[in-house]
Amino acid sequence: MTRSSDIEAEAFGPHDHQACRAQALAAVEAACAARRLRMTPARACVLEALLEAHRAMTAYELLDRLREAGLGSQPPVAYRALDFLVRNGFVHRIERLSAFVACTHGGSEHVAVFLICRGCRGVAEAVLPQLGAGLAASAAGQGFSVERMVIEGEGLCARCREAEAA
Ligand SMILES: [Zn+2]
Ligand SMILES: [Zn+2]
Ligand SMILES: [Zn+2]
Repeated sequence: MTRSSDIEAEAFGPHDHQACRAQALAAVEAACAARRLRMTPARACVLEALLEAHRAMTAYELLDRLREAGLGSQPPVAYRALDFLVRNGFVHRIERLSAFVACTHGGSEHVAVFLICRGCRGVAEAVLPQLGAGLAASAAGQGFSVERMVIEGEGLCARCREAEAA
């Protein structure tokens, strides 16, 4: 199978990505100011790389970006930046792909629901507050306190489905 769809995947629906990207960056900046978090050049570099497209990137791809930007070439540099971004809710780890994706919901508290395309590795994030609340209530009923919840749905995006059918 050829990966002609290895071009930068947009979110699965057409949208103004410039605006979407600017909004995400502004939300992170606001959150950093409010929570007194420090956005170092390495952290910003990783976040900006992830915001270029709605595509999951591995720590090694991100390390390449850091190296290109002259910000470091050792894996811990990438892992430390990712750890900060994930811990603060600006980036999510997609277990299914062992990769990372920028959050499109401004780092607010939410259950992340991902639609992951296995063709182009495109990732769309949906927020379903009722689903999160329902799961949390069910967990609470069993005396379980949920600290982190990520739901991953794998499949094919419209473009990859077309490519497969062709
Ligand atoms: Zn976008
Ligand atoms: Zn998110
Ligand atoms: Zn796809």
